[in-house]
Amino acid sequence: MVLNSESTTVLIIGAGIGGIASAARLARNGCQVTVVEKCEKPGGRCGQMTVEGHRFDTGATLFLMPELYAETYSAIGERMEDHLDLRRVDPTYHLYFQDNSQLQLTSDMHEMMVQMEAIEPGSFERLLHYLAESRHHYELSLPNVISRDFHSLTEFINPRMLSIFLRLKSLTRHTSYAGRFFKTPRLQMAFTFQDMYMGLSPYESPATYSLMQYTELCDGLYYPLGGMYRITETLTNIAEKLGARFLYNAPVERILVDGRCATGVELTDGQRLCADILVANADLGYVYRQLLPDDGEAGRIDRKEYGCSTVMFYWGLDKQYSQLGPHNLFFSGDYRKGFEDIFKDATMPDRPNFYIHAPARMDPSAAPAGHDTLYAAVPVGHISNRKSQDWPGIQVRARAFMIERLAQLGMTDIESHIKVERCFAPQDWQSRYNLTRGSAHGLSHKLTQMGYFRPHNRHKRYRNLYFVGASTHPGTGVPTVLVSARLTSHRILEEAGK
Ligand SMILES: Cc1cc2nc3c(=O)[nH]c(=O)nc-3n(C[C@H](O)[C@H](O)[C@H](O)COP(=O)(O)OP(=O)(O)OC[C@H]3O[C@@H](n4cnc5c(N)ncnc54)[C@H](O)[C@@H]3O)c2cc1C
Repeated sequence: MVLNSESTTVLIIGAGIGGIASAARLARNGCQVTVVEKCEKPGGRCGQMTVEGHRFDTGATLFLMPELYAETYSAIGERMEDHLDLRRVDPTYHLYFQDNSQLQLTSDMHEMMVQMEAIEPGSFERLLHYLAESRHHYELSLPNVISRDFHSLTEFINPRMLSIFLRLKSLTRHTSYAGRFFKTPRLQMAFTFQDMYMGLSPYESPATYSLMQYTELCDGLYYPLGGMYRITETLTNIAEKLGARFLYNAPVERILVDGRCATGVELTDGQRLCADILVANADLGYVYRQLLPDDGEAGRIDRKEYGCSTVMFYWGLDKQYSQLGPHNLFFSGDYRKGFEDIFKDATMPDRPNFYIHAPARMDPSAAPAGHDTLYAAVPVGHISNRKSQDWPGIQVRARAFMIERLAQLGMTDIESHIKVERCFAPQDWQSRYNLTRGSAHGLSHKLTQMGYFRPHNRHKRYRNLYFVGASTHPGTGVPTVLVSARLTSHRILEEAGK
């Protein structure tokens, strides 16, 4: 697909994964692309920082669904394997339960059988059935829901789609679905907690999302050497090679409009940039609320449901703890209550579940020799003006709780070995990347905010203004945002090529 006119200019607001991938795709198709990014470098939530030799991916850490990444590289004329050195991560997760018992999720099915039968006799056979079903969910939703743009309600709601939604178990809650396969709470947790990565509670999310377990255990979980930021770096380099121009430290103050047309942007320093087509990659709710004239839509998007946020700690240690795998999940208090605290009360549970990523297990260059680099994430509610939220207090509690929990597992001296520490709370997600309510994952992926019901990737009034990113269709996660970039770019090219 090549544009009729080589002189079509495109201005992209934001160099997150969605903005970068769109820039590369559009530049490859003959557009003159400029990307304006408020931060000093690209990546957004797929970012990275290095402090005293400790390299931290600051947001995304799990590389799933490699086929969606490969499709992006191929669409911009490259091969993924020439840019990313992928290592399979197996076991995928080290799970630590409330009673300190452990389970390592692995694609080694003999190993899974031994571990699962010890927890619940007969559960391994049911796992095979669960994975076969989750594969079915993945293979059905990828072409029919995730990779499709829904321009009209009848494209989304019709007899064929209804039959697909039924087969995807869209009306069954993920936790009740998992309960049909596993009686033991530990196994139910092991095969539902991943919904948190989409900012959802498994007590609310559809069983469709069991597709995640298929992608992790069967399709594979990977680590790109150099970290997830290699995706940001390599896609940005390719986009630049294709002619896209990136301007950093260039926050957009507002989008300029004239009648039914978006004409350009004004930066905070007063500079104006014009283009034929605009693509907003900055968080959708923020764009409607802060960058566009108010036509009531901002209020409607604000009233929608948002996913959870996270309190993060980035720790550089002068010691390594061999107990930790590359990805570790610590279950702590009551599983159901924990989600209610986050999603209903917008706070942090007293005994929060948390996740620790130790990239040096896969890639020693992530830390100085003999030292370690840990990324610790505690899911919490998003910013809410209807709740009283004491974020500094929550940060202190989160840190103390993790140190105490790690000590129970034998890492008794961990606090004294933390030499470097950086923290990130919901207000930081909000102020650094302009994420609405500091939600790490943007608009929630509940059923009524999916597909056609998610805000569309073109503005209703300004028909040359498009959207890409986690709060648009299909949703959050690096591979999903890459699909969003594909859908938005195709639409732009189709409409501009007419
Ligand atoms: C803690 C955390 C963990 C995650 N873990 C995973 C994971 O393991 N695997 C996975 O696949 N996904 C993960 N995700 C999700 C994934 O990182 C995101 O869905 C994805 O990176 C979002 O990309 P985006 O392009 O939509 O938006 P963003 O990354 O938010 O990019 C938008 C860009 O717009 C810029 N911007 C905002 N306002 C302006 C303005 N006014 N002017 C100019 N620029 C502006 C921002 O600075 C930002 O760079 C995680 C996310 C978080 C937060």
